[in-house]
Formats: sequence, structure tokens, C-alpha cells
Amino acid sequence: MEHRLHRLMEWMKTKDIQFSFMTTTENVFYLSGFRSDPHERLLGVGVFQDAEPFLVCPKMEMTDAKAAGWDHQIIGYSDIENPWDMIGQTIAKRNLFIQTIAVEKQHLNVERYEALSALYPGSAFVAAEEKLQQMRMIKDEKELKLLRKAAQMADHAIQTGVNAIREGISELEVLAAIEFEMKKQGISEMSFSTMVLTGKNAASPHGVPGATKIQKGDLVLFDLGVVYEGYCSDITRTVAFGDIDDKQREIYETVLKAEEAAIAAVRPGVTAKELDLIARQTIADAGYGDYFPHRLGHGLGASVHEYPSITETNELKLEEGMVFTIEPGIYVPGVAGVRIEDDLYVTKQGAESLTAFPKKLTFV
Ligand code: MN
Ligand code: MN
Repeated sequence: MEHRLHRLMEWMKTKDIQFSFMTTTENVFYLSGFRSDPHERLLGVGVFQDAEPFLVCPKMEMTDAKAAGWDHQIIGYSDIENPWDMIGQTIAKRNLFIQTIAVEKQHLNVERYEALSALYPGSAFVAAEEKLQQMRMIKDEKELKLLRKAAQMADHAIQTGVNAIREGISELEVLAAIEFEMKKQGISEMSFSTMVLTGKNAASPHGVPGATKIQKGDLVLFDLGVVYEGYCSDITRTVAFGDIDDKQREIYETVLKAEEAAIAAVRPGVTAKELDLIARQTIADAGYGDYFPHRLGHGLGASVHEYPSITETNELKLEEGMVFTIEPGIYVPGVAGVRIEDDLYVTKQGAESLTAFPKKLTFV
């Protein structure tokens, strides 16, 4: 964590920022090692150019924060104390003149912005998101280890879902079987709401699982991930229940071809845009160009969506150490929806897939 704090401090010096205050669960975790969802209570890491950083959290979480490895100052406030007064007093002791503050503009709400402004009237606020995203984009060995484990658990979750499929079982019942098994494995948090969609419901890329029962001839789509020690996985598999028709088969094979072509192209120096276009072209060539309405993929780490974004306009060059998804899909309303998604790690020469559930069409 010290290394990360120092990189942020160096950036602050070049930008003449005297105080950075990070407040999202993920960025606090990235900088402090402490991952917590404080609900409506304030959680934040304060960083200065040269002075000692601090963590502010509810008093009842101070022990956990220390146990997570944070060995700088902790401001713990009770439910009847005002954390902003305590932050102001803490900073006053450091004798700093603060006129530019970096915050997560997309996260700091108006009430908190006003509280911070009142402490340092007239100061300018700059966005810290881009810098943190850049820092988080290249994973170190420890992060990779956790991402690998999260991906293995996601593979196991897919297998659990496949095993649960039978005639007449509902999407939500299959979902419950998956999450029950994950809990038994010690996973307390999924990285987003698990999706189990059957038949025509899968033709919506962001469909919501419900009471629909799985029937013979359906394609069943699973999209899920787990959080393992703060790191997220994200996998999609689409399987067949009983015999499916030629159209469904064609859609599946097209998505698979697009996914494999994009994965085969991953290596340092290739742009995000090139990857997206390889998959998009494969799908267009098969006549389904109008049915792939989203980007090819997204970075993965402490957040389930982070940099790099794999879009058809992103000129960013891939680098060793990046981790992102590749997830082409074809969604034909009233017919079928198929998506196949893996988590890729960029190596020196190419890509390593962290997720490994088989992609040859599975028949249940
Ligand atoms: Mn995804
Ligand atoms: Mn997904």
C-alpha cells in the first residue's frame, strides 16, 4: 500500500494538489488495504504531498482497518460525532495550506462536498478518478493471484448452475442454488447481481432473473462473478437444455468464434479498439451486426468495471499486467440471447484466461 500512496503523492506534487480525499470502497481499499461498505457513514483516505496520510471510518471499524494493514493515523468517529470536525482538526495539526483538493467527483455527494468546502473555503476541486484508474490498471503479482482465485470460484459457480438445471426449475431457483454453494465456499459477496436467464429472456443483455421456468429447447445464460479478498471475477456462459434449433446453434457458434478471435489477438501493443473490432467484424460477417449492442469488454480488479474499457473507439494500447473481460454477445429479440465472457490477463506474449469453464456448447 505504501508504494501506491507514494505514487499518488508524486502525482499530487506534479499537479500542485495539497490534499486528496478518496471515498469509494474500491479506492479506499486500493490505497489502505481496508475494504468496507460503510453504507451512509463516511469512509475515506486522506493523502498529502509529504505529511502522514489518514483513514477516516466509523469507530467500530477501527480494529478491522488496523488488522487489514493500515498503520497510519485512523480517525474513528462515533454515531454522535461529526467526522468533518475531526478531519479539520487532524489536518490543522499538519500545518498545511490547502487550496487544491483531489476527490472522486463522481462519488462525493453534494453534502460532503459542502462539508469539505466549508473546511477550506475557496479551494479548487479536481477529479482523482482518472489517476486512480490508471494506477489500478496494471496488476501486481498479489492482485493477479486473487483475481485468479476469484475466476476459479466463478468457474465453480457456473458448474453449480449447470448442475441445477432441470425441466421446470425457475431462473431464481437456479440462481439460489449457485449463491448457496458460493456461500458454503466462503464467498460472502457476488461481484454483481447474478444473472440466470432462459430462452427469450436471455435476449436482453441486462435481463432480470425471475420466476420463468427453464424448458427443453432453451438456451440458458449465466452471468456472474464473486468477490474474493476484494477482487472481482465476471464470467458468462450460455448452455443448451435439450435439443436446440439451427438458429440458436448458429448464434452460439458465431459468438464463440468472435470471442476466440478477439482472445487470440490479445498481446501488448494491440489497442483496445482493435480487439473490439475483431469481434464486431466476426459477428457482422455472420449477419448479426445489428445484434451486438455493447462494448467488447471492461477492466476487472477491485471493481467489476474499471479500466481499460474495450470499445471500438479506445486507442489505448494493451500492456502486460492488464486484466479485462472479453464478452461478445448476440441478442435477437424473440429468438435467443447468447454471450460468452472470460477474464483475460495480458502476458508478455499474449493472454492467459483466468476463467476456464469449457466453451464448446454444453448440452444439459
Ligand atoms: Mn462483464
Ligand atoms: Mn458479466
